[in-house]
Amino acid sequence: MALIWMQRNGRAGRVSHLNLKLMLGAYSAAMLLLFCADTAPAAARVPLPKPRPIEAPKAESAGEADKQAEEKAAPQPSACRLALTEDIAIAPTLPPITGPGACGGDDIVRLEAVVLPDKSRVPLKPAATLRCPMAAAIAEWVRSDVAAIAAEAGSSISELDNFDSFDCRGRNRVAGARLSEHGRANALDVRGVKFASGRFLSFTDRDAPRELRQKLLASVCARFTTVLGPGSDWYHEDHIHLDLAERRNGYRICQWEIWDSLPKVAPLLPAVRPDDAPPRAVAEEKGGQQEAPEKAAGTEQPKQEPAPQRRRANKKGAGRSGAFR
Ligand SMILES: [Zn+2]
Repeated sequence: MALIWMQRNGRAGRVSHLNLKLMLGAYSAAMLLLFCADTAPAAARVPLPKPRPIEAPKAESAGEADKQAEEKAAPQPSACRLALTEDIAIAPTLPPITGPGACGGDDIVRLEAVVLPDKSRVPLKPAATLRCPMAAAIAEWVRSDVAAIAAEAGSSISELDNFDSFDCRGRNRVAGARLSEHGRANALDVRGVKFASGRFLSFTDRDAPRELRQKLLASVCARFTTVLGPGSDWYHEDHIHLDLAERRNGYRICQWEIWDSLPKVAPLLPAVRPDDAPPRAVAEEKGGQQEAPEKAAGTEQPKQEPAPQRRRANKKGAGRSGAFR
């Protein structure tokens, strides 16, 4: 632009030294104006605060807003959770279990111990992972029924066995089978309870007092929608499966055979030698003396089980059962 202007002036006449200076000054001013024209709109904008660094501590108001949002997003405690207080059970809340597959569920607790009405605790060994309603049902069963059955037997409970609780698997551990209620944290397998005396009552022991086992059977079948024990299938001969599966029309399953104890002495086995029997050498000598004439006569006497031994076996069996009364 300045060059064009100089050429025009050059054609019109001589350019003086002073004019050249003025021209250069004007050119500088124009360039400065052009430079300023680029930056002027930015300077005119309203100044904005710099973005907050990520690592900067959150302002108090922002923190409160986040807290409120979290509270809205977090599920409210269920009615079961609110009711399962430490007066009933030691059962801290666990986060929901999601998967794998259809396994898991919400409202999960870790049932560590049942608290009896007298405040004593019956720990589950080991602690069981269960949905709150199943944990509450176990707690009520132990507090009301098992404690009463133990008291009738002249004892109190000190431990509840947990053979299996949450376990993501098919029914009866069969691959490809329908999902077990264990996979939904809705089932507990128990083998028995321990008494304060230290004695363990196995629910499936044929030699355990029949009356106690029958009471336990009645109590679990009244509280749980599925009860599987001995006689149900080949998977429950050594434990009792309890769950709260919901079925159409409230259908329930109660399959637990209370087996009789097996004979103490198998009839075809040789009888045990009585403690008060004479020394063997004498017996053989006597036997030999007595047998000789019978053999000579060609007659055979039927063998008889010694009466004293039979009485002893019966006494032994009665003594074992009596320990629970
Ligand atoms: Zn089971």
